[in-house]
Amino acid sequence: MMVDLIVENGRIHTGDPEAPVVDAVAVLNGRIVAAGNDVEGLRARERVDAHDRVVLPGFNDAHAHSVWFGMTLIETDLSGVRSLDDLYRIIGDRARDGGADEWIVACGFNPVLLHGAVPDRDVLDRVSGGRPVWIKHASGHSCQLNGEGLWRTATLAHLGQEIDGGRIVLDQTGRPTGVLEERAMSFVRDVLLPYPLEVIERALDLATAQYAREGLTSVTDAGVAGGWIGHAPGELAAYQNAREHAVLRIRMQVMPVIDALAGLGVHSGEPARLGLGAGVRTGWGDEWLQLGPVKVFTDGSVLGRTAQLSEPYEGCPGYHGYLQEDQESLRRRVLDAYAAGWSLALHAVGDAALDLALDVIEEGITRHGTRPVPNRVEHGAVVRPDQVARLAGLAVACVVQPSFIPTFGEGMRRAIGAGRSAWSHRARSLLDAGLPVAFSSDRPVAPGAPLSGIQAFIERITEDGLPYGPDERLTAGQAVRAATEGSSQVTGQHARKGLLVAGQLADMVFLQEHPADVAVEDIHSIPVLATAVGGVFTHRQSGF
Ligand SMILES: [Zn+2]
Repeated sequence: MMVDLIVENGRIHTGDPEAPVVDAVAVLNGRIVAAGNDVEGLRARERVDAHDRVVLPGFNDAHAHSVWFGMTLIETDLSGVRSLDDLYRIIGDRARDGGADEWIVACGFNPVLLHGAVPDRDVLDRVSGGRPVWIKHASGHSCQLNGEGLWRTATLAHLGQEIDGGRIVLDQTGRPTGVLEERAMSFVRDVLLPYPLEVIERALDLATAQYAREGLTSVTDAGVAGGWIGHAPGELAAYQNAREHAVLRIRMQVMPVIDALAGLGVHSGEPARLGLGAGVRTGWGDEWLQLGPVKVFTDGSVLGRTAQLSEPYEGCPGYHGYLQEDQESLRRRVLDAYAAGWSLALHAVGDAALDLALDVIEEGITRHGTRPVPNRVEHGAVVRPDQVARLAGLAVACVVQPSFIPTFGEGMRRAIGAGRSAWSHRARSLLDAGLPVAFSSDRPVAPGAPLSGIQAFIERITEDGLPYGPDERLTAGQAVRAATEGSSQVTGQHARKGLLVAGQLADMVFLQEHPADVAVEDIHSIPVLATAVGGVFTHRQSGF
C-alpha cells in the first residue's frame, strides 16, 4: 500500500497502553493507518526521519481565546509593564502614531504586577495628547479609560445607576477612575465594536502561527460572537474564512456566547429553545472547525474580586463577589439553550457560582438527558471537597488553568486566603474522582504554551516560588496526558484524536525530549522541533 507519510526512527508515544512507544507511524488522508511493526513494507510519498526524537499526540488547549490573543499581537502590548511610569511611556510613544482623534487601544495590563496600582485618568489624558485611551486588563474582566475615553462613551450618562453584573469604579470623591468592571465594559465596546471580519481573521492568522510553533494542533475557543468577549456578531464567519484561506493552522472548536443565541421558533407543543440561525448547535462542523458548547459566564474573576464565593473574600468581611446576571434569568436562558441541543460550558470561578452551575447542569440532564459533547465548567478557582464529588457524580469536567498558578497564584491566594487555595485549580483530586483532566491556558489571560502548562501542572509553584495546592500536583505522565488525551475527552473528540493509533487523526508534535526525562523546571524550554496536523507540517524547525 502507498501512504502519504511515514514517520520513522522516532520515540513515538502513542497513548495506547498495549503499545505505549513505537518507532514508526504511517499516515494516509490525514489519519494514522499503521503504527510500529505494521508500518513495515508500506511505501510512502514522503518519509520523515525523527532522529530518535520524541513524538507525542499534538497538544490540545481546551480553553483559550484565539481572536483576543491575536488582537494582543496587533494592539499595544502592556503585558510586561511593572510600573505606572512604564505604562505612561508606552502609551505616550503610541500616541505619536495615528490620527489625533483615533483611539489608542492597549491590552494585557496586569494590575497584580503593579500591586494593584491603577493608572491615573488625568495623566493618561496628558500622555495621550488628549486622544481616547482604552486599556484592557489581562483578566478580561475589567478595563480602563482615560478622561477623553469616558467622554466618548455612555459611561458618564450611567453614573449613579445600578449596572446589572458590572460596576463603574469611583474614587473617594465619587469621580469615575476610568475603571469599568464586567458588564460596564459594554460602554466602550458599544463604541468600538464590532471589529471588521478581516481584522478578526488577521488575529486568527497571527495567533495560530504561534500555536503551531508551540506544538498545538487543537484549540477550543471559549466564547465568540457576543457578550463582553466577542469581537463581532458574525465572528464565526471569520473562522470559516481563515480556514478557507489556509491561515487557521489548527483544529478549532468554537463556543458561541449565550448572548449570541436567540429564540428559535418552536412547534406549539415544544418547550422554548435558544439557538443560532437554522438551529445549528454543538457538534455542527467537521474535524477542522466545529461548534462547541455554548459559553455562559455565571461570575467573574478572583483577581478582580468579581467571582462569587460562598464565604467572603479574604480581608473583606461580608463581601462575596457577584453573579453576572440574575440567577433565575440565567437558569432559564441556559435551560432553553440546553433544550435546543447545546452542551454547556459554564464559567464558574467562585464556589457559589459553581453551586449554581452544577444545579443548572443537573436540571438540564434530568429534563433532557446528557449530550454527546460533554457539559463542562470553566476555571474552578475554588472547588470545595463536596463539589469534587458532585462534579464526578454528574460526569462534568472542571476545566482548570495550571498556568494561572505561576502567573498570579499569589494574587489568587491573597483574594481567597491560604485555606481555600488548596481547593483551587485542582487536578489530582479530579483524576482521583474519575474525571478527565484537560490542559487549558485561557490565553491571553495567562501564557499559553502547552509545555509551560505541563510544567505548571507538575510544579504548582507561584510567581513568588511558593507551593500552591501541592496535593493537586500531577506526574509528568498525567500532565502530558491532560494536554493530549484529556483535552480530547473533555471536548468530546476522543474518538478521533488524542492518541497516535490507527484510525486517529495524524496530529503530532515532535520534541527534543519527553517532559518526563528532563528536570521539571526545564520542561517549558524543551525545543518544539515540528508540529503536524493531519500529517501536514504546520511548523518545522530549520534543520529538522
Ligand atoms: Zn476564558
